[in-house]
Amino acid sequence: MCGIVGYVGSREAFPIIIKGLQRLEYRGYDSAGVALYQNNAATVYKCKGKVSDLLAHTGSQNTVSTLGIGHTRWATHGVPDDINAHPHRSNSGRFTIIHNGIIENYAPLKAALTRKGYTFTSQTDTEVLVNFIEEIQKQTKAELAEAIRVALNEVVGAYAIVVIDSENPNQLVAARKGSPLVVGIGDNEFFLASDASPIVEYTKNVVYMNDGEVALLDRDGTMVIKHISSSKELTPYIQAIEIEIEALEKGGYEHYMLKEIHEQGKTLTDAMRGRIDPVAGWVKMGGLNEYRNRILNSDRFIIIACGTSWHSALIAEYLIEDLVRMPVEVEYASEFRYRNPIVGPKDVVIAISQSGETADTLAALELAKERGALTIGICNVVGSSIARMTHAGSYIHAGPEIGVASTKAFTTQLAGLFLLTL
Ligand code: GLU
Repeated sequence: MCGIVGYVGSREAFPIIIKGLQRLEYRGYDSAGVALYQNNAATVYKCKGKVSDLLAHTGSQNTVSTLGIGHTRWATHGVPDDINAHPHRSNSGRFTIIHNGIIENYAPLKAALTRKGYTFTSQTDTEVLVNFIEEIQKQTKAELAEAIRVALNEVVGAYAIVVIDSENPNQLVAARKGSPLVVGIGDNEFFLASDASPIVEYTKNVVYMNDGEVALLDRDGTMVIKHISSSKELTPYIQAIEIEIEALEKGGYEHYMLKEIHEQGKTLTDAMRGRIDPVAGWVKMGGLNEYRNRILNSDRFIIIACGTSWHSALIAEYLIEDLVRMPVEVEYASEFRYRNPIVGPKDVVIAISQSGETADTLAALELAKERGALTIGICNVVGSSIARMTHAGSYIHAGPEIGVASTKAFTTQLAGLFLLTL
């Protein structure tokens, strides 16, 4: 959901990638990393924090390379830390991937790969994907681009990915579905990024990849684009962009809040991704399953929140009482924590918080937990304090919200609460 930059050509890749990641910083992120092709292998540097932390982390290491990829992550699967930061490597070390998005069917893929002996060091869906690509490559003996094309036919979810093959020093392979990816075309060189802002200072010729496309970019200037459903080569639509860098930052919007308002179509889709099967008629919230019976046998729901989240709670009260016929109380967390509320083991206390760090909500939760209530968190930030301290919960996958007045976090909270109600 955050940023991707890639380069293959004859220039030094590292400074291009770092500068590109900085241009994408407006998207928000929690960790950053790069992989550089050096001596028939991909050298990976990654860490939690800012691009400036990544720079400090690489320090005086040798970053000389003309092929590389860089990533900023907004965690969806696994906490933000050094291990979960991208890039991720396949078990053999041959393939190195960066990924923005969510792999919905990562759990069955991971189980199948585990049975075949694959092991995983991170909690991410991304590491599952790179090993799945490796497995398909082993089975088909195909070139990387073809193996990725075949693999992606089995993958459900949203992604922009770029992969390095340590057996091929001249190529980057990228693919997208649901997450944006732009290819910049230079003189026997290619740039890749989540939007054109890291590319415009080098070239004006770009291809906006379409959903479901896989692109092979070779140092000799060859670009091959295919759709994942067919081995037929497509003719890329190369366009000249005339936009200035200033206009591209913030995704072309005047300010973050406007950008975030426009992101809502995507964030609502992400919030519901993999959780609804309209044909079979079910809603599944993996994080709540374990407590299903206790939730259904409870006496009442108490929703605690502050600010915007409190407004979503008020809507959830109407929804749950109307559809579930269970009593719901909505409380301002700061009121709840400072009075002596009646709350106990027959209550389900739902805490809503975008950041997952709201101090009053945390304190209110502690009190509810002490008195034996089942606690559920509805948060945006993976691995946040509320997500960690609650018995169960669900992430809303709104991505980073920078605007102070909440927009997309509010609407995705509502999506989450609708699913919970159902
Ligand atoms: N799902 C991946 C992860 O949690 C990628 C998140 C992103 O889009 O940055 O690591």
